[in-house]
Amino acid sequence: MVRLATVCPDCDKFVGKKIQIDSQDEPIWVCPECGTVHQDRSWYKEVKDKATYERIGSIKRVAAMYLFDTGIEVIGIVTDGVDKWEEEFPDRTECLTWLASHTV
Ligand SMILES: [Zn+2]
Repeated sequence: MVRLATVCPDCDKFVGKKIQIDSQDEPIWVCPECGTVHQDRSWYKEVKDKATYERIGSIKRVAAMYLFDTGIEVIGIVTDGVDKWEEEFPDRTECLTWLASHTV
């Protein structure tokens, strides 16, 4: 699990971001304090090339999420700083949904 915390731009409270994918395939989170819905793509990194993708496993102590669109499949990678999980998906929406399920 990757904990995403932020200051809500609407109510200025420090809150946890629980990412969901809305009906437009857009990643969103709902502020638990004020209820505002925020569109947000800042919580994962887009991997551009294979060299970067291969480096991810060696980055230790960084909790992060990555999406690598190879053009054939979409690979989701989650690291919590110790372990790494990886899965392949047929499209970006399924990949984002899987990545979002790892946020608390
Ligand atoms: Zn708020």
